[in-house]
Amino acid sequence: MCQLDRHRPTPDSPALSRRTVLAAGGAGVLAAVGATVLGTPAAAWARPTQPVADDVDVYVIVTDGMIPSELNAAQAPTLSRWADHGTRYTSARAHMIAETLPNHTAMMTGVYPDRNGVPSNSIWDRAAGDERTLDRADDITYPTVLERVRVEAGVTTASVLSKDYLHGIFSGRASVQWAPFPLVPVTDHSLDEFTVEALKRTVIDHSPRFTFVNLGDMDRFGHMDLSGYSLRVARNQAVWNSDHKLFQFERFLRETGRWERSVLIVLADHSMDWSVPENFINAGAAIDADPALRGRFGIAQNGGADTFTYLGAPAERGAALDRLRTVLAGLPGVNSLYDPAELRLGERAGDLVATCHPGWRFSDPTPLSNPIPGNHGHEATLPIPFFVSGGHRIVRHGQVVDRPVTTRDVAPTVARLFGLDHGDMDGSPVVEAFDL
Ligand SMILES: [Zn+2]
Repeated sequence: MCQLDRHRPTPDSPALSRRTVLAAGGAGVLAAVGATVLGTPAAAWARPTQPVADDVDVYVIVTDGMIPSELNAAQAPTLSRWADHGTRYTSARAHMIAETLPNHTAMMTGVYPDRNGVPSNSIWDRAAGDERTLDRADDITYPTVLERVRVEAGVTTASVLSKDYLHGIFSGRASVQWAPFPLVPVTDHSLDEFTVEALKRTVIDHSPRFTFVNLGDMDRFGHMDLSGYSLRVARNQAVWNSDHKLFQFERFLRETGRWERSVLIVLADHSMDWSVPENFINAGAAIDADPALRGRFGIAQNGGADTFTYLGAPAERGAALDRLRTVLAGLPGVNSLYDPAELRLGERAGDLVATCHPGWRFSDPTPLSNPIPGNHGHEATLPIPFFVSGGHRIVRHGQVVDRPVTTRDVAPTVARLFGLDHGDMDGSPVVEAFDL
């Protein structure tokens, strides 16, 4: 596949890594915003599919980690107005494990992790014998609508994703891909200010018909907010700032005549919960302290959830898992234990999933491994905001819908709008949001 890398730093200019530029100061870096463009938008297959309208531009905008109660006129006036204007879903949920990578993957594939390969941010990689992040392009094992709309409808698609690992796992799929830049050190994400500027630039330069956007500030500032359990000072500021950037994006769409073309599907990938410093669960220490368990499990930590992969002799697996369940159930803060199959997580989730109570977090393998107060992954962080809005004539107005919807329903909705078959997906289109 031919790729044109247009504005990225060359290998012989190491001083211009995405990370170091921001550390040196943000001024002037917008000039370096660039995108990787595939050699298509391309000839569709012999019989291209028909979108529901020839003038519709679809944006899926993820307000990463947003809590449903934050979708109100005081904290998020733009998002709240958009939701009132369109169809607001009041019983929307992420799926387990309530992390960023599995829920973004669910949005773009429409299927459960046992089919798309992505059950959590972090897995125990049996082949490597270590924990790793699912940030590789081949980690997704089911087609996404980013490449399906590009190929089957023959129109330009784009991904504008603020987090480095999201850019990694979705690389090679959309027609146009923005590599987040500059990256904030430690968080490995680009501030919403830069992401929304890149979004505008992408729209101006490429006129994508379908764009997948992740705004990471709410999540990243939420994770680090030491007052999250009470005042949420940094978090509330991030919600306000992200909302204001989206106000500017709406103004851009209106001023360039694109608002009437726009369908906006806005949701979070999970919400957020905050723990106090002493409320952590160190499952690794409990396993090490038990002679029947020591050295027999690999742990992948996912904030409010841990996954455990059995590493011992097959004949002893059942007894070891029984013992692990007993030990974990006795730890303060542990909420639920799941067989990964009952959550349809697939084999990468290992042999057992543990979640924490609200106000707690996992810290593995050591008590210092996870010091950040804001976490998600557990049941308390499943509820999400979810609405459909925009200026296109197919968008219905002023509706509130109480039926349950989930992140898996995004891909079939996008597929429906571009005339693609979605019969094989596990989710369903949110059809009540449109006059089709
Ligand atoms: Zn997230």
